[in-house]
Amino acid sequence: MNSASRRTDSCVWCGRQVAESGIGRRRRYCRQSCRQRAYEQRNQVKGTSLPLDAVVLTSEEASAMVDRLFQVRCAAEDVATAIAEGAADHEVESLCTDLVRIAREAECFR
Ligand SMILES: [Zn+2]
Repeated sequence: MNSASRRTDSCVWCGRQVAESGIGRRRRYCRQSCRQRAYEQRNQVKGTSLPLDAVVLTSEEASAMVDRLFQVRCAAEDVATAIAEGAADHEVESLCTDLVRIAREAECFR
């Protein structure tokens, strides 16, 4: 499983993982409200210089995303520090579990 193929399983509106439908075309949105908001935005940006699929975030949403990315970096640094200091396997494993959880939360940008 490579990261590029996993990325396409993310909702193009909010970034959350899209549940596999099993058959037919891959779903682009995780839920109906995301599909609806994407539709509304396409209508709002029509005739402007913004691309139809532009990702428009409020400054609050953008700074929350930056905060989440910062948390990912801190968690990654915790793993690196633990390994450098020769921490026990179970401690490193626990830190990695945290890192994966924090990174997963950071994938959602709305
Ligand atoms: Zn979504």
